Amino acid sequence: LLETFEITKAYGDHQVLRGIDFAIEPGQVVAVIGPSGGGKSTFLRCLNQMERPTTGRVVFAGEELSATESNLDRLRARMGMVFQQFNLFPHMTALRNVVLPQMNVLGRTREEAERRGRALLEQVGMLAKADSYPNRLSGGQKQRVAIARALAMDPEVMLFDEPTSALDPEVVHDVLDVMTDLAKDGMTMVVVTHEMGFARKVADRVVFIDGGKIAADLPPEEFFSDGNDNERIRTFLAKVL
Ligand code: ATP
Ligand code: MG
Repeated sequence: LLETFEITKAYGDHQVLRGIDFAIEPGQVVAVIGPSGGGKSTFLRCLNQMERPTTGRVVFAGEELSATESNLDRLRARMGMVFQQFNLFPHMTALRNVVLPQMNVLGRTREEAERRGRALLEQVGMLAKADSYPNRLSGGQKQRVAIARALAMDPEVMLFDEPTSALDPEVVHDVLDVMTDLAKDGMTMVVVTHEMGFARKVADRVVFIDGGKIAADLPPEEFFSDGNDNERIRTFLAKVL
């Protein structure tokens, strides 16, 4: 569904990605983990071309993303992205945050968009707060609205960049539960995370990015097994587990 071929990214002479070959199949969940500064966020941003790779190719649903701009907008709309910071529109209610992009980007009628918006808020457990403004919501609640907003575009793949890292510990699980349900429903997901429990239990594969390269791409049971003798991974896991 989404594939990269030898992508590299440099900022000036700082080489951040050093040739990443990656592919995700429909319905798969890939957890991306690794040390800070290793290039995880840069990699994720290259997947939807928020960041243009310096070299290499990204292919999504059979189409190359480096093609024309109009092509790019259309393809990008089919990838949902959720960030560490929630990026909700502060002057709009939760429902309006989910409704407006459907009208603007997909051309849905208000009625259609509201029907879908309410269903999505219900799915993430936020229907009761539909009329609340973001400043009246907790971090976990905002993040669940942000997920609903991304889902409202009917994306074929969801990209998450540390969606729970800015949250108070007691609400992390609310967000992880929503993501786990999504995964069970068959959503294709790339999730940069420090939540090893999520990676272990929900992901089909764990991709370890270190120094701008994929240093491991393994099923979780192998990645987290005592038999994994990759020194960098052992050191990393010793710190985070
Ligand atoms: P973290 O776990 O801390 O989020 P990360 O693995 O997501 O780290 P990136 O954010 O991808 O790492 O950053 C990789 C490297 O690229 C870092 O050294 C960072 O300083 C550098 N970098 C990222 N974005 C830019 C930018 N816009 N300009 C210059 N350097 C950048
Ligand atoms: Mg990052």
